Amino acid sequence: MAGSHKDAPEPTDSAYYKAKYQSIEDLPSVGPATAAKLREIGFKTVESIAMATTAELINAGIGEETAGKVIEAARKSIAITFVRGDELVEIRKQIKQLTTGCPSLDTLLKGGLETQSLTEFYGEFGTGKSQICHQLCVTVQLPQEQGGLAGGALYVDTENTFRPERIQQIAKRFGLDPDEALRKIIFAEAYTSDHQMVLLDNADEVIKENNIRLIIVDSLTSHFRSEYLGREMLANRQQLLNKHMHKLMRLSRAFNTVAVITNQVMAQPDAFFTKGVQPVGGHIVGHMSHTRFFLRKGRDNIRIAKLTVSPSLPEGEVPIRITEQGIESDEEI
Ligand code: ADP
Ligand code: MG
Repeated sequence: MAGSHKDAPEPTDSAYYKAKYQSIEDLPSVGPATAAKLREIGFKTVESIAMATTAELINAGIGEETAGKVIEAARKSIAITFVRGDELVEIRKQIKQLTTGCPSLDTLLKGGLETQSLTEFYGEFGTGKSQICHQLCVTVQLPQEQGGLAGGALYVDTENTFRPERIQQIAKRFGLDPDEALRKIIFAEAYTSDHQMVLLDNADEVIKENNIRLIIVDSLTSHFRSEYLGREMLANRQQLLNKHMHKLMRLSRAFNTVAVITNQVMAQPDAFFTKGVQPVGGHIVGHMSHTRFFLRKGRDNIRIAKLTVSPSLPEGEVPIRITEQGIESDEEI
């Protein structure tokens, strides 16, 4: 099981860490019994309770009144409330950028991937989505002067494609000790969509203890795709995906982390999709991702990364190359 990294720096750069209450037991109206119930359903930190809904806490057998009070206290504790525009500027200053380690991608992003926000990489099988995820697990560990976030990564793998050997190769390129780099990655394989959701529901403590600054779900949609087949299951699937992405978003904001999801799409919609069924995730995944990259194959090992959606950047595309060392700008070779 994941333990704390003693050498990990303290996460002092987030406004969200100036919490008044350190543990859930410190919150008013939370006695040992309530705390146990909260932990049982995955609310192990003040941050996660601040992001919870009353209904979620009521589900755990906590009375409505208590639930409301607990959430309010948690929110006040980490200062999530109405803010003035100028204060918003201050809060947004907490947002950090993470280098992709690939100069052309960073140029497209005017720096890198942002914390407190969701970035999606979508494309066909073999276009490099998982390779990019591997590389980000390494760059997140770099010091801030080198574009990293001096933190760890949490990797939820649904397709059994995470390879520690790849991390070791990429770590060497960035001058990190390969074994040390692996120690800063917390890995979980999700066996079903339910399991995938439970993993995120229980992730808050692991994120806090391990100074996680990057959460990856690779792939977000594969289990949902295979388990929820046919039109009649579509609404249910979309609702669950929506809930799952909300959870990821909330973790990303509460802990000031980068959140990355991957989504495999078909070039040629098959008969199943042409019968009026949306491709997996469809509008839900697209609408909830703040930044979206579409990856497609070029010649040889070249991939084209196209920035298709961003809240503040223009569209654009760059060629990238998958090599032994990870993802590189094409012109670097
Ligand atoms: P997906 O988009 O399906 O997640 P991947 O990220 O797994 O795709 O990318 C697979 C591609 O990465 C394959 O074309 C493979 O050849 C390439 N690749 C994987 N490892 C290496 C390596 N060590 N050197 C060069 N290319 C690699
Ligand atoms: Mg993959």
